[in-house]
Amino acid sequence: MPLSLDLGSITIDWLCGGDFELDGGTMFGAVPKVLWNQKYPADADNCIRLLNAPLLVRSRDTVLLIDTGLGNKLSAKQQRIFRVCRPWNLVEDLAALGLDRRDVDLVLLTHCDFDHAGGVVMHGPDGRPELTFPRARHIVQRREWEDVLAPNIRSAHTYWPENFAGLADSGLLELVEGEMEVCAGITVRLTGGHTRGHQMMEMTGSTGCAVHLGDLFPTHAHANPLWIMAYDNFPLEIIAQKQELLPRYSRRDCWFTFYHDIHMPACRLDEEGRVTSSFCRTRAGSSPCHPLAGQEGSPK
Ligand SMILES: [Zn+2]
Repeated sequence: MPLSLDLGSITIDWLCGGDFELDGGTMFGAVPKVLWNQKYPADADNCIRLLNAPLLVRSRDTVLLIDTGLGNKLSAKQQRIFRVCRPWNLVEDLAALGLDRRDVDLVLLTHCDFDHAGGVVMHGPDGRPELTFPRARHIVQRREWEDVLAPNIRSAHTYWPENFAGLADSGLLELVEGEMEVCAGITVRLTGGHTRGHQMMEMTGSTGCAVHLGDLFPTHAHANPLWIMAYDNFPLEIIAQKQELLPRYSRRDCWFTFYHDIHMPACRLDEEGRVTSSFCRTRAGSSPCHPLAGQEGSPK
């Protein structure tokens, strides 16, 4: 069973949205390999293994997901190109927690890249595409949705129409501008940076808080504000956001939660960006989708 991060009135579990491998250089942009490789080791092909781990967030009366993983629609060729090394398992992971996909009330999309939004639409039991979470309101920033509808030459490679088929007509798409409390204690907020309409989530429970910065902070190794990805569309915006957000949430002793990090699902930082504690799956039976460094399943 997945291991929960307990914030009192809110719990967070990480589900398996499909692992893949990317060139390590693309994940660390202009940072020299000799530096990033110490924090996130690469294999012989210069690849690093990354999770796509949607967060299941449960408050007293709401079940919500942050992002949806790769989905089950990738062709064999796409799985080879993206070096998918563990398949999307979201529905089964929910079942292991006693939940059906119809139990999900809200889907919060940090942004609409295929590795985050690929599970919005799935191939159902009959092989046809259907909304994976047919009862859930899907919360997206308006700017992000505008870019999904009219992608530029670069974003067209990552905003795939099949990941949103039927969503706009379903009445389940809710566009946000800026900031909105989506349920008690959980707020989304526009950040921009990675994409024009990227958003973050702040979660305040009765005994603690957590923040999810999406692809502004994809792994613990990106704690330095200058360590950003080659995929980022507005690098200076990301740097500015991280300079503001990391100290702000460090001072509150919040957990920083990660979507792509295979080493740690969440950590706390001091104001200099050093990891002071990490949330690790050490309990017997914890999800093998999130192996720890140096243990079973660590990066090749
Ligand atoms: Zn991503």
